[in-house]
Amino acid sequence: MKQRKVPLRKCVACQEMMPKKQLIRVVRTPEGEVQIDLTGKKSGRGAYLCGSVNCFKLAQKTKALDRALKHPIAPEIYEQLARDFVSVEDEFQSAMSTDDEQ
Ligand SMILES: [Zn+2]
Repeated sequence: MKQRKVPLRKCVACQEMMPKKQLIRVVRTPEGEVQIDLTGKKSGRGAYLCGSVNCFKLAQKTKALDRALKHPIAPEIYEQLARDFVSVEDEFQSAMSTDDEQ
C-alpha cells in the first residue's frame, strides 16, 4: 500500500476532515484582523473552511469561526469575509483543479 502524507484539517463549519490544500484558511492576525489567507502562511490563529460559500454561510450562521478563532467576530467582519470568500472561491477552485499532484 502506498502511503502519502496528506495533512488533514477540519472544516470548522461542517466538521469534515479534508486535505489542508482543499481548505481555505481564515486567520486572525496578531493585530486582531480577521481575513482570508490563501497562502496559508500568515501568522495568527487560523481556522479552516471548505472552499465553498455554503460552508462559509454555515460558519456564519453557527458562529463556528468565532469559536475556532476564540474571538467574537462582528457581523460586518463576516460580511466582509463573505465578499472576500466569493471573490477567492473561483481562484481557489481553479488552483485546485490545475494543481494536479500525482
Ligand atoms: Zn465544510
